[in-house]
Amino acid sequence: MAAEYHKPLPRPLNPELTRPFWEAAKRHELVMPRCKTCDQLFFYPRSECPRCLGSDLEWVGVSGRGRLHSFTIVNQPANAAFRDDVPYVYAVVQLIEGPRMISNLVECDVESVSVDMPVEAVFDDVTPEWTLVKFKPV
Ligand SMILES: [Zn+2]
Repeated sequence: MAAEYHKPLPRPLNPELTRPFWEAAKRHELVMPRCKTCDQLFFYPRSECPRCLGSDLEWVGVSGRGRLHSFTIVNQPANAAFRDDVPYVYAVVQLIEGPRMISNLVECDVESVSVDMPVEAVFDDVTPEWTLVKFKPV
């Protein structure tokens, strides 16, 4: 955990809706909403299932394993707070359970990153309040 973290932190638009995700991340667990009506797992969190619009939802643990669906290597960050991190990988990860997540690929040589490479979740405790879910190659 960084003693002083000066980058922008998540500011969920609906903190109550996403609280289980962030609490699980602090425990170094990855959870997703699942629709109890049609069994669909989805991400990002919503109050209704994107498949059937059902609102009977639960949070379930997922493996954190997946493949790199798409990525870009960032050399010029949009926010100056990330200036010292470049080049870094902005990633779309396809979890083996189905949902896709936008995150960063870390612990990697950016020149060796390729679409479809296997990845797994890692948990970055950036402050006592916030743990960010990132991914690394496996
Ligand atoms: Zn559904």
